[in-house]
Amino acid sequence: MALVGQGLNDCEIARRTGIPRSTVRDWRRPAYQRKAHRAVCPRCRRATKPIRFTAEDYAELLGLYLGDGCISAGARTARLRIALDAKYTSIIEDTTALLERSFPENLVGLVEVHGGTMYFVSLYSSHLKCLFPQEGQGKKHERRITLEHWQRCLVEQAPWGQERRANARPRRAEVLNEPLNLD
Ligand SMILES: [Zn+2]
Repeated sequence: MALVGQGLNDCEIARRTGIPRSTVRDWRRPAYQRKAHRAVCPRCRRATKPIRFTAEDYAELLGLYLGDGCISAGARTARLRIALDAKYTSIIEDTTALLERSFPENLVGLVEVHGGTMYFVSLYSSHLKCLFPQEGQGKKHERRITLEHWQRCLVEQAPWGQERRANARPRRAEVLNEPLNLD
């Protein structure tokens, strides 16, 4: 450990001490620490890139998805696309920022479509269907949309939630590494 403190790299320490390089690496960054940094999906508990929602952000994203979005499933991942009118640049900027802070390690795409009259803001994640289980057969406006209990709880916590008490401060629902077991 003294050699780590001197700023020597793992290779050099391994060479000087005869200790395997992987062991030196583990001393430098213990396995439990590496594990602690791995995020899991709040719904299926499988590994994921970090997902962070406040109640307000979740409610906003759910509204955008139900209103202007769709989720298409690929072989290994899913893609969320939100179609926005090019005239409302602030909505496009806000939506991009919302996705970037909710999925801080995922790339958020912005594509001009329909001759520049619309933009698709998009994001890939294999957990989109965990977070937005409303995707199904047919068009959203032609079928019944039912929110799950945990979704209703988050939406109700958001500032425009129907059951929000006057003057109640919006509660943060940091769901990173916490199950959304509100039901
Ligand atoms: Zn999941």
